[in-house]
Amino acid sequence: MQIAVVSLFPEMFDAVTAYGVTGRAVKLGLVRVSHSNPRDFTVDKHRTVDDRPYGGGPGMLMKIDPLRQAIAAAKEQVRAQARVVYLSPQGQRFDHRKAVEMAQEEALILVAGRYEGVDERLIETEVDEELSIGDYVLSGGELAAMVVIDAVTRQLPGVLGHGASAEEDSYVNGLLDCPHYTRPEAFAGRVVPDVLLSGDHEKIRRWRLKQALGRTYERRPDLLQGRVMTPEEQELLAD
Ligand code: SAM
Repeated sequence: MQIAVVSLFPEMFDAVTAYGVTGRAVKLGLVRVSHSNPRDFTVDKHRTVDDRPYGGGPGMLMKIDPLRQAIAAAKEQVRAQARVVYLSPQGQRFDHRKAVEMAQEEALILVAGRYEGVDERLIETEVDEELSIGDYVLSGGELAAMVVIDAVTRQLPGVLGHGASAEEDSYVNGLLDCPHYTRPEAFAGRVVPDVLLSGDHEKIRRWRLKQALGRTYERRPDLLQGRVMTPEEQELLAD
């Protein structure tokens, strides 16, 4: 997958392209992340990327033309019919389902806003979709774009070494993940549940599923609404 990021601060994206699971995906060539910086498309000697809003008021907006040209350059970088996504607190909420859906795309363009945002006409003409990572306001779209890159990259085939661990991640099957334990067997007066030491893989699988169901019921009952339970899940929940 190719992802072109439109941002005034491309160096911030090292956080996802150089480290951990996503860094490895970049190294393996499973995802390519390129940058397009509106500042490179300015023509004045101060390389101005912001402008005053019509109607007055506090704050600045991103200057239209450098941003428009940066989006055009991003399209050339990915050389594919790419969905242009503007990260915005006013967008549709980004979640696991959205990450899975976006992972099917050949290419994506992620536009990170700064200042008080972007001219509405640019959104109307250049953007296919607005996405929010939550009901709060960040100072810029870069962190939001990195959240999208990380969550989408995890869904690409070959990125997560151990397939089963991804299948058990929270939200993957519409449930929260079960609790996990590592050594030592006793810690802070608490011991690892016996079943995990039993070596009985079927028992362990059922225990984990029951824990995941119980946790979801307690913490996120909304996830269970409308969920079609398997006979085994019904039995475990009733138990
Ligand atoms: N005035 C805008 C509003 O209230 O809708 C907020 C602008 S914010 C200070 C600057 C940039 O941060 C936005 O253009 C957007 O790209 C990004 N941003 C802020 N909060 C976000 C969120 N919750 N999800 C995604 N992007 C966000």
